[in-house]
Amino acid sequence: MVFTPWCAGNGHQYYFILKSIIMKALVYHGPGDKNWEEKEKPGILNPTDAIVKILKTTICGTDLHILKGDVPTVTNGRTLGHEGVGIIEEVGNAVSNFKKDDHVLISCITACGKCANCRKQMYSHCETGGWILGNTIDGTQAEYVRIPYADTSLYPIPADADEEALVMLSDILPTGFECGVLNGQIKPGDTVAIVGAGPIGLATLLTAQLFSPAEILMIDQDDNRLNVSKTFGATHTINSSTENVTERVMKITGSKGVDAAIEAVGIPATFELCEAIIAPGGRIANIGVHGKPVTLHLESLWDKNITITTGLVDTSSTPMLLKNVQSQKLAAKKLITHHFKLDQIMEAYKTFENAANEKALKVILTS
Ligand SMILES: [Zn+2]
Ligand SMILES: [Zn+2]
Repeated sequence: MVFTPWCAGNGHQYYFILKSIIMKALVYHGPGDKNWEEKEKPGILNPTDAIVKILKTTICGTDLHILKGDVPTVTNGRTLGHEGVGIIEEVGNAVSNFKKDDHVLISCITACGKCANCRKQMYSHCETGGWILGNTIDGTQAEYVRIPYADTSLYPIPADADEEALVMLSDILPTGFECGVLNGQIKPGDTVAIVGAGPIGLATLLTAQLFSPAEILMIDQDDNRLNVSKTFGATHTINSSTENVTERVMKITGSKGVDAAIEAVGIPATFELCEAIIAPGGRIANIGVHGKPVTLHLESLWDKNITITTGLVDTSSTPMLLKNVQSQKLAAKKLITHHFKLDQIMEAYKTFENAANEKALKVILTS
């Protein structure tokens, strides 16, 4: 193609301006409607912000909930995603822990570090943060993302880190560990049931073993995920579509039930299963995102000394888990089954939406 000097000059200038203000992002346009499209590149809005260029990101089950229309706080035009690692492009004046070109892990929870809830380490309830990325502000499934309160919402990545493995620390490993393992008070010798062998259930299975429970029973409807569970350290697997789960659990536990039952699905049937298999003095730890009421069977539980816990991840365990991933005590990479380029994200969503057929756990998108 031949340009006249006049055209070439202006064309070049136009291209340069476009490149500096336009990026690509996965944008939500209402239930069932998303698109990989051009969008304005984020800039610093507050002095505590950082702009991060995404190196690796992933898709979460929560993104599928959003696309079903289950999360009304997500509105038309929102960039999805709350997980990833990246490199700092720019920081606001008040950011002191990070500078341009630092590699960082992005937490799914944004924390101001100063409000009453943050001071209790309850970052998920930060008064001006919490789970906002890919929810009420634009998220990480994009070429660039703005991270508010960068000092307290990003983590530095060691130089020799396997960045793919660290993406598992943005959300699923701390979620499984805090909402499942810590809330479920798992101890050496315990018998633990994990209901749901998706990425969160498997992250719970991996992190539960930090406390050496004697037995871990994995319950799901998908034989592939149950087989994966065995390679992750489950001592028993139960397929709930072909077996009577309560009978099997009672047989395995000598009719006692389990010391901890961890719900990692988010539907009434799986929570009620936890109520049916819990031993006296046991703990039911809910992780699943529930959209419907669940029956609390107090007629059978009232005298059983059980504890029920709920909560969203606070990510207070992230620095500890990061060390264990680094030292390979935690095999985070085992959760990754598929790889795509960031601009193939529409295809990656198709794979993740057909997780059972595709045998997909976590997909990694690389820019
Ligand atoms: Zn997530
Ligand atoms: Zn706060």
